[in-house]
Amino acid sequence: MIQEKRADLHLHTFYSDGTFSPAELVERAKALHLFAISVTDHDTMSGLPEALAAAGKDLEVIPGVELTAAFGDRELHLLGYFIRAEDPTFTSFLEEMHHYRRKRIKAMIDRLRVHGVKVSMEEVESIAGKGVLGRPHLAQALVEKKVVPSLDEAFGRYLGDRAPCFVKGAPLTVPDAVRLIRGAGGVAVLAHPHRLVEDGSIPQLIADGIQGIEVFHSDHNASVRRHYQEIAKRQGVLAAGGSDCHGLRKKNGPLIGSVTIPYEWVERLKAVASGKD
Ligand code: AMP
Ligand code: FE
Ligand code: FE
Ligand code: ZN
Repeated sequence: MIQEKRADLHLHTFYSDGTFSPAELVERAKALHLFAISVTDHDTMSGLPEALAAAGKDLEVIPGVELTAAFGDRELHLLGYFIRAEDPTFTSFLEEMHHYRRKRIKAMIDRLRVHGVKVSMEEVESIAGKGVLGRPHLAQALVEKKVVPSLDEAFGRYLGDRAPCFVKGAPLTVPDAVRLIRGAGGVAVLAHPHRLVEDGSIPQLIADGIQGIEVFHSDHNASVRRHYQEIAKRQGVLAAGGSDCHGLRKKNGPLIGSVTIPYEWVERLKAVASGKD
C-alpha cells in the first residue's frame, strides 16, 4: 500500500509560544511519517535553520510564519508560506515586531498592576527563554504565581482580546501584512477563521490580497472544515491546514500530526508562491 503524503503546516516552537525545539518537532514529524511540515512561529522565522538541519532529506520543511494583523476592531492571524527568510524588508519587519512585542508585554504588565496583579518583565522573560514574547508567556507567569489556576483563566480574566489588561498586538493592517508576506515571495493564508472572521468579510480579505484559507485546523470540526473548503473553492483561493501545535503549553497536549492536509495542497501553495499558478 502506498501511504498518502500528508503535511502539517501549522506548528510553533520555543522561538515563539511553543514548547518544542525545531529539532524536536522534526523528530516527531518523522515518527508520524509526515511528508512535509511548516514551522509557523508568531513573528519570527528563527526556528527555520534548525528545522531544516534536523530534517535532512527525510522531511520537507516549508518556511513559514504567523503574523497578527488588525482587521476592523479585531486582530486576525495570517500565515505566510514559502517566504524567503533572508528577505531584508521581511527580516527588519520581524526585528521591529520583537521590539513592539516587548513594549506591549510591558504595557500589559502595567495594566495588570492597576488591577492589583504584580508580575515582572524578568519573570515573563525567563518563561519565554529564546521565544519572541507573547501573551501565553505572561499567562504562564500568572499561573506560576498562582494568580489564576489555568492559562484559560489568565486569558479569560486578564489577557484575552476582550479582557481588561489586553493591549493590541498588531501595529499593521491586513493589506500591510499581505504586502510583507507576498513581497518576500510568500503566499498569504488566513489562519483559523472560525469564530474570528465572519463569512461576509472573506471577500474583503481576498480583495486585501489573501490567497488562501486555513481550512483544516484543530479548532475546526468536520462541518466547519467542509464549510471553509466550500468557501475557498467558491472564492477561488487555496486551502491550507495544520494542527497549530504549541507543544506542551496548551491543555490538549502536543497536537503535531493530529490535523494534516494532503500533499497536493502544499504543491498548489508552492505553485502560487513561485508564480507558476
Ligand atoms: P499574542 O501573539 O501575544 O497576541 O498571543 C496570541 C497567542 O495566545 C495565540 O496564538 C494562542 O497561542 C494564545 N491564546 C490566545 N487566546 C488564548 C486563550 N483564550 N487561551 C489560551 N491561549 C490563547
Ligand atoms: Fe500561539
Ligand atoms: Fe493563530
Ligand atoms: Zn498558530
